[in-house]
Amino acid sequence: MASTTSADAETYRAQIAYLLERSAFYREKLGPSPSDRLEDIAELPLTDKGELRATVTPENPFGAHLCAEKSEIVRIYSTSGTTGTPSYIPLTAGDVENWLEGSSRSYAASGVAPGQRIVSTYNAGPFVAGAALAAFERIGLVHIPVGTGNSALLVRAIETLEPEAVVMTPSYAAHLGESHDLRGSSVQRVLVAGEPGGGEPAFRAKLEQGWGAKVTEAMGVGDIGPSLFGECEQQDGMHLGAHGFVHLELIDPETGAARELEDGAEGELVLTHLRQRAAPLLRFRTRDHVTFKTNPCACGREGPRIRCIGRTDDMLIVRGVNVFPSAVREVVNTFAPQVSGHIVVRPRSPGVKQEPPLPLSVELARGTRPSDELSAAIAAKLRAELTVRAEVELVPFGRLQRSEYKSKLVESPGT
Ligand SMILES: [Zn+2]
Repeated sequence: MASTTSADAETYRAQIAYLLERSAFYREKLGPSPSDRLEDIAELPLTDKGELRATVTPENPFGAHLCAEKSEIVRIYSTSGTTGTPSYIPLTAGDVENWLEGSSRSYAASGVAPGQRIVSTYNAGPFVAGAALAAFERIGLVHIPVGTGNSALLVRAIETLEPEAVVMTPSYAAHLGESHDLRGSSVQRVLVAGEPGGGEPAFRAKLEQGWGAKVTEAMGVGDIGPSLFGECEQQDGMHLGAHGFVHLELIDPETGAARELEDGAEGELVLTHLRQRAAPLLRFRTRDHVTFKTNPCACGREGPRIRCIGRTDDMLIVRGVNVFPSAVREVVNTFAPQVSGHIVVRPRSPGVKQEPPLPLSVELARGTRPSDELSAAIAAKLRAELTVRAEVELVPFGRLQRSEYKSKLVESPGT
């Protein structure tokens, strides 16, 4: 496996010993003598978010995987709790340092250089993403935080302070590129993270056109670490910036079986902490679906690259076919400049399983008139590329909601 180095194998062995010594959760889960060889990792059980939550008690609000003493914990983040109540992520000083190091590598891959300025737009507050903000200074950048939800403040900061880079969600980058003329601004790089989209070729092209800047994406996983992955200037998938700290695997999301990390492989991303101390996780199911690239990258960085297709939580199953809303958007965006890039999937019934045709609203570009030919062409391409039959409704420009944070691509009945 390309992502496995002998250094990782050593670190992993020590990490397993640490888990057995300190983690009640993993002692019970792994049994008395699990293999500590990294090449055998797929023989060990997966860890699910729900399992961790189930071990939370009033005495231990972190869960039974907690390994650190109270005195060792220096910071506690919350996860946003998309599937229920928020959970707490404790960190030791060493954990904070490792997160920062990994995030710095991921963001530095984009090509930003020391001395340049970067405007960030995250209201990270209690969330893990906030830990990545210190990475900008670590890289040597001048960090200008403006937060979310104030486009006027953001545009003023760009005009006045002339940053070379900005960092935001792809949804917000799209919204700004559409609502403001930023092509002549000082911004040369737009770093996007927080949701899939930055790596979709047509969506990326739209962002690059709107900003007159290069777009690269980064990605973190709340329970594992912020901005673990980051794209380089080749824009051909995200490198693992957190190498040495995190080991990655791919599994079949239905059966949990390990998949070979070969070029073009696809599946659910599974991550293992190699050095985490406070609340380390082993074979954690991220619920992120990714594709893998293993061919050498022209930038010279080693290891595989990933692109995130979407979250399992957003996935619909239409007559046995898995459909990710972000993949639907990617196909629809190939119809630019006739479409604006905004879509909403509107399932008729609650739940994952849907009967075709799948209702889909597609927003037209400014000044484009709806036509039966266009809706038929979009439906035909969705059928050809995603094997899904959709009922395409074209709506005028500006009709679908814009987001300053993450886009909602699915509107289920009752929500
Ligand atoms: Zn590269």
